[in-house]
Amino acid sequence: MKGKVYLVGAGPGDPELLTVKALRLLRTAGAVLHDDLVSPEILRLIPAAAQVYNVGKRCGKKKIRQVEINFLMVALAQSGLRVVRLKGGDPLIFGRAREEMESLRQAEIPYEIVPGVTSALGAAAAAQIPLTDRHASSALVFLSAHQADGSEAVNWSKLAGSGATLVIYMPGQDYAAIATKLKAAGLTPETPCAIISRATTQSQRTNRTTIAELLRAPQLPAPALLVVGEVVGCADPALLAPELTVPAVSAASPATFAALLESQPQLANFGMNEEPSV
Ligand code: SAH
Repeated sequence: MKGKVYLVGAGPGDPELLTVKALRLLRTAGAVLHDDLVSPEILRLIPAAAQVYNVGKRCGKKKIRQVEINFLMVALAQSGLRVVRLKGGDPLIFGRAREEMESLRQAEIPYEIVPGVTSALGAAAAAQIPLTDRHASSALVFLSAHQADGSEAVNWSKLAGSGATLVIYMPGQDYAAIATKLKAAGLTPETPCAIISRATTQSQRTNRTTIAELLRAPQLPAPALLVVGEVVGCADPALLAPELTVPAVSAASPATFAALLESQPQLANFGMNEEPSV
C-alpha cells in the first residue's frame, strides 16, 4: 500500500509557531525529510522510530539535488510510509513546492500541503513592523533577491511604483547591490528598511536603516530578510534602533518548549490515534 506525503511548513524558527496540525503529523511520521532551516527543537519532536533525512542544500559535503530529494520522497512513500517533507516557513513560499508536487503527481502518491508561518510574518511580528498600514502601504510583495537561473523574473521598477511594502527573501550579503536595484527602481534613498536575521529564534538580530545607508549596514547572519517601505518607520524604535542590533527576547527556549509540551499532554499527543484528514 502506498503511503502519503505531507509538505509541511515548520514556521520561521520558534517551535511555538508550529501549527497544531504540523505537530500531529511530525509525531506520527514514518519518515521526515527536512531542510537546514528547521530548528533543532522542532526536529526533537520526531519519534525515535522515524527515518530522518537532512536534505538541506548545505548538508554534508555534496549538494543534494532537487531530483534526488524528489526520488527519496517518492520511494519512501511507495514503501508505505507516512512521509513529512518539512520546510522552513511555509512550504509554498520559495520552497520548491512545484517540483515536489509534480514528482508526487507523476508517481501517483497522495499528498497534502500544511501551511506554516512564513519568515516574513515571523520577522515582522518579532520586529513589530505592520506590513500594511492604511496610511503608508496597502499592498505587500514577497520577492526573492535570487532567481534559480540568475535571470530577473521580477520587474523591480513596477514594484517600487506600486508603493507596496517589499519583503526580500534571500537577500545575500551584497546589500549594496540590492540598494542600487531599489534606487534604480525609483525608491527614494530615504525609504526605511530593516534587516531581520534569524527571526523568532534566540539569536534574532535586527537592524534598521535606509536604502541610502544599506551598504553600510552590518552583515547579519543568514537566514535573514529585508523589509523595505514606509511601514518600517512604524516599528517600535526600541526593537529596531538605528545602527543597533537587538536580540529577541520572546522566542521559546528549548527548555521552555519541552516543559510546555510536557505540561500539555493533550497537545503533544493531539490526534495521535487518528488518521490525518485529507
Ligand atoms: N519557505 C520559507 C522561505 C525559504 S527561502 C518561508 O516561508 O519562510 C529561504 C529564505 O527565507 C532565507 O534566505 C531568508 O531570506 C528567509 N528566512 C527563512 N527563515 C528565516 C528566519 N528565521 N529569519 C529571517 N529570514 C528567514
